[in-house]
Amino acid sequence: MDKHTSIGEVVRDHLLVESEAPQSLSEMEDKIRRVLWWLGNMVLHVWLRWLTKHERERAIACKCGGEARYIRQRPGQLYTLFGVVKYQRDYYLCSTCGQGTYPLDEQLGLRPNAMSAEVERLAGLTGVQMPFAKGSEVFEELTLVSLSDQSLDKATQAYGREVEQQEHEWRKQAQDPTDLQRQEREIKAPLRLYGTVDGGLVPTRAPKGEPQPWRELKIGAWFMARGQPPRHPDDEWAIRAEQITYYADIRPAEEFGPLMWATGVQQHAQLAHELIFLGDGARWIWELVDFYFPNAIQIVDWFHACEYLAPVAQVAFTKKEERERWIEQMKTALWKGQLDTVIAACQKHVDPNREKDPAQQASTYYTNNRHRMDYPTYRANGYQIGSGTVESAVKQIAQQRLKVPGARWNLESARLVSKARAAFLSGQWPDLADRRRCLSHAA
Ligand SMILES: [Zn+2]
Repeated sequence: MDKHTSIGEVVRDHLLVESEAPQSLSEMEDKIRRVLWWLGNMVLHVWLRWLTKHERERAIACKCGGEARYIRQRPGQLYTLFGVVKYQRDYYLCSTCGQGTYPLDEQLGLRPNAMSAEVERLAGLTGVQMPFAKGSEVFEELTLVSLSDQSLDKATQAYGREVEQQEHEWRKQAQDPTDLQRQEREIKAPLRLYGTVDGGLVPTRAPKGEPQPWRELKIGAWFMARGQPPRHPDDEWAIRAEQITYYADIRPAEEFGPLMWATGVQQHAQLAHELIFLGDGARWIWELVDFYFPNAIQIVDWFHACEYLAPVAQVAFTKKEERERWIEQMKTALWKGQLDTVIAACQKHVDPNREKDPAQQASTYYTNNRHRMDYPTYRANGYQIGSGTVESAVKQIAQQRLKVPGARWNLESARLVSKARAAFLSGQWPDLADRRRCLSHAA
């Protein structure tokens, strides 16, 4: 009989002594899971104790170049996937620089009195998916580890801060002329890359007595696209975005710009043969694009372009059929790039006495953005003209996670959680987890 079978039998016998014969597989699964969890806790205990039982050095080299002498063992406490584990570790003190050190902690990346890197990874993963209170219930259900919602918040923010640290490094690289020149020499530039930026509102905590301030969460994405736009606007949009990376922040446009540039340089956007930027027409977006990527082809997202039509129809026609017919005609004209027709048609319904006249707004919008609405040419080139990609990112980040009913975000927390969530949606979680682990080793 092999070793594992005999361990299995011991556990089974233990469970049989503990309780009556099982009634269902679910009961067996649950019991086994709990006993294995306790066993894990025990093994971790024993293992850590065993690790400290070696013959210890009386002195070790300190980072400062001096010598750290063994003082005594000191207790530590770990919050692991197998619950709380207490252990003892050797403590050394350097007489030159006065720094104390725990070689075992450093060697294993232990974080005494804090979540282990594994717990933090999973807690953060939960925290980017759902509200912390709900998340802490789910977390315990899945892992048997109970964590407060504050701990979940903390883990998620730690990942958000890691993203911010990485962005900081990217920003430094993106400002380094040598690095940019190296890219130009060595990198195979992307043939066609897309960028897009959008904003969504997040409720943040206001000082007492003040109304709740909604802050704009800005979200950007870089992506490739496959497929062709449809032949007719109402046909199915078979175009698919791929290799999407997201970035997010709650900052004024002029501070968001450097992040846009830095994440763009990561995708070699500045070298792309064709860089296509999709937006909803908000001025700050185009100003940033003009400044950072002056060669980009700017396109007003098709769906946003159409959104201006319905309010005009609403004020212009009383009958539903008339409204629908007019919208249909205008959409066709837009699709064909007949901006003069569309602008003139909107102008016809302008009423200077109307406040915030939708006809005037539409007319201004189409006039200001007409050079970004040459849809026939874009379609002929096979460009993606609908930014469903970032739209859905706003939904996934701003609405699904941050717009929790009743939630008021502390601004810093909202920023960090949105960064962590953007990184998760970009598939960066494993990389971030590696960075977090290295961090605890270096600490
Ligand atoms: Zn020292």
